[in-house]
Amino acid sequence: MKKIATLIASAALGISMLASQAIAETKGIVGISMPTKTSTRWISDGETMEKLFKEAGYEPDLQFADDDIPNQLAQIENMVTKGAKVLVIGAIDGTTLSDILQKSADAGVKVIAYDRLIRDSGNVDYYATFDNFQVGVLQATSLVDGLKAKFADTKPWNVELFGGSPDDNNAFFFYDGAMSVLQPLIDSGDIVVKSGQMGMEQVGTLRWDGTVAQARMENLLSSTYTDAKVNGVLSPYDGLSIGILSALKGVGYGSGDMAMPVVTGQDAELPSVKSILADEQYSTVFKDTRELAKVAVKMVDAVLQGKEPEVNDTKTYNNGVKVVPSYLLKPVALDKANAKDVLTSSGYYTADQIDK
Ligand code: BGC
Repeated sequence: MKKIATLIASAALGISMLASQAIAETKGIVGISMPTKTSTRWISDGETMEKLFKEAGYEPDLQFADDDIPNQLAQIENMVTKGAKVLVIGAIDGTTLSDILQKSADAGVKVIAYDRLIRDSGNVDYYATFDNFQVGVLQATSLVDGLKAKFADTKPWNVELFGGSPDDNNAFFFYDGAMSVLQPLIDSGDIVVKSGQMGMEQVGTLRWDGTVAQARMENLLSSTYTDAKVNGVLSPYDGLSIGILSALKGVGYGSGDMAMPVVTGQDAELPSVKSILADEQYSTVFKDTRELAKVAVKMVDAVLQGKEPEVNDTKTYNNGVKVVPSYLLKPVALDKANAKDVLTSSGYYTADQIDK
């Protein structure tokens, strides 16, 4: 009996030694903190990074925070305790991480802000994202193109505006980019925001929640559009667009003589791509998350070798404490004409996924 116990104990010791050797052989732990799984893009961001970090010899620790701020803080704290050398963080609320990032910095941990800028902290080393202002420009440009194509005879166009989550720095960039295109048309009277609701304080959608957007659209329709028709809706994210389209369909848009308004989006999520091909949603903005994951992995690799990562923007992203050196990727506008082509030729989706 005793012999067996000793055997088991020494086998266990052997395994744990092997395991710690395996850890010692990696280039170190990289904490990947993603905000949520409710949108497929974040799952794809997280999983692509996990795979690339493993291939590059790191030990990734991937966590999703379920859009819960205390949860994200606890997960990050845990990564630091485990000895992560770098944190790659897609923040839920860009302003809540200052304390934990101070602790991380004290422990010598480097921090990359992923897709969303982390605000109010000097302890953010680099930022990997897309050109977020340009995302808004593309959304508004396609909105205007759609209005011209679908409602040429109904000027002025009635348009309603939706913004993203006010705790996400990106939401302001998307909105400002869009308004750089729409404001001149509002000023000239070509576009009317009939509800009068403008500015992120009035049009923001907390946590990017599609049900919140749907409820607001329903309110707008019953308060403002009993005697008039809405022609366009600026939506900054596919998950909101789905809710907005439900509200519109609920009162009869898209059937009979009630043309579906031009509704924009972002992320090229599968349900929205299908909706675009079915002539419901008008457009989306494709951001290849696989490319963003690559940028983040390269940044981490450079930082850990004591090198300067490649950046292409050193003036746009002031987080309130410092301008964070950034690498911006280019977003791509998609509508019915090019969506399937771009998404399948890049391998982002298979034709089967889109057609099913
Ligand atoms: C991202 C968008 C995404 C949104 C909601 C933003 O920070 O940049 O791609 O649609 O969050 O998840």
